[in-house]
Amino acid sequence: MAHTGGVDLGGTKIQVAIVGHGGEVVGQARRPTPTQGGPKDVVEEIAGALREAADEAGMKTSDLDGIGIGSPGKVDDDAGTVAGARNLPGWEGAFDVRKTLEKLCGARVALGNDVQVATDAEFALGAARQYASLLGVFWGTGVGGGIVLDGKPWIGRDAAGEIGHVVVRPGGALCGCGRRGCMEAYAGRASMEGRARRRSNRGEKTVLFKIMEDRGRTRLTSGVWARALDRGDPMARQLLDRAVKALGVGIASSQNLLDVEAIIIGGGLGLRLGHPYVDRIREAMMPHLFNDERPPAIELAALGDLGGAIGASLLISSGERLEA
Ligand SMILES: [Zn+2]
Repeated sequence: MAHTGGVDLGGTKIQVAIVGHGGEVVGQARRPTPTQGGPKDVVEEIAGALREAADEAGMKTSDLDGIGIGSPGKVDDDAGTVAGARNLPGWEGAFDVRKTLEKLCGARVALGNDVQVATDAEFALGAARQYASLLGVFWGTGVGGGIVLDGKPWIGRDAAGEIGHVVVRPGGALCGCGRRGCMEAYAGRASMEGRARRRSNRGEKTVLFKIMEDRGRTRLTSGVWARALDRGDPMARQLLDRAVKALGVGIASSQNLLDVEAIIIGGGLGLRLGHPYVDRIREAMMPHLFNDERPPAIELAALGDLGGAIGASLLISSGERLEA
């Protein structure tokens, strides 16, 4: 009857799941990530979401075997801290997430990288169950990557899997990281939005921003892109074509280096655009694949929106950490 908590901490939302031994979700909650304040406010919001999800599962957070958090920024599980989470409010320096959350929830806490735990979830329970090696590509605001080799996560010295910053065009478009020509500068939703705005400001027609306003959004979400595509918006189609091309180059180049069995496509845009776009990414990869006679399996992430939270919960079952 052991249950664990999983937290997917994102720049937009905090998704929490209470997960049973077999990976089944028995409770969940979702809250917007605070946009003001600092790390302590964010962690208090996480604790609130955990209480809500635990309540749905008929338990208290202190009944949990532990709580795993998949976090952006620089994650140090030994120290229990997260630093430099750029998308979270006032989160520059290192903040002791473990101590703060353990006090609030009465359960032990383990930390992992957000994209890596989502990759681990697909490996353990999702689309990559039958494979021993995989590359997870999370196509959303940015483009994140996670790697599993010979059944084990590969995080390098701490920063492996940054597939969004694989260079697809030297001297090309400016990336959010400050460098040029990264895959993310073409395929990341934030970069695509910037480009759409510039083109729209120059007088080019598009329904993207109209749909955004009609739906009460302040950003071009994955749903906005999908709707514009459904309406045949030429700008949306062009920018997504460009993104797919960049993804094809970047993922194929990564595959030439790693030769993994499977590539899993997830993330907000990946999940929203679904199988037709997974097929398009596969096609865009083919001309750049060195071993094109034996391409990897390319599949859509199976755990959907909950993959990050489920993956975070696995940090507990796989670790032996126990602190007083
Ligand atoms: Zn970059």
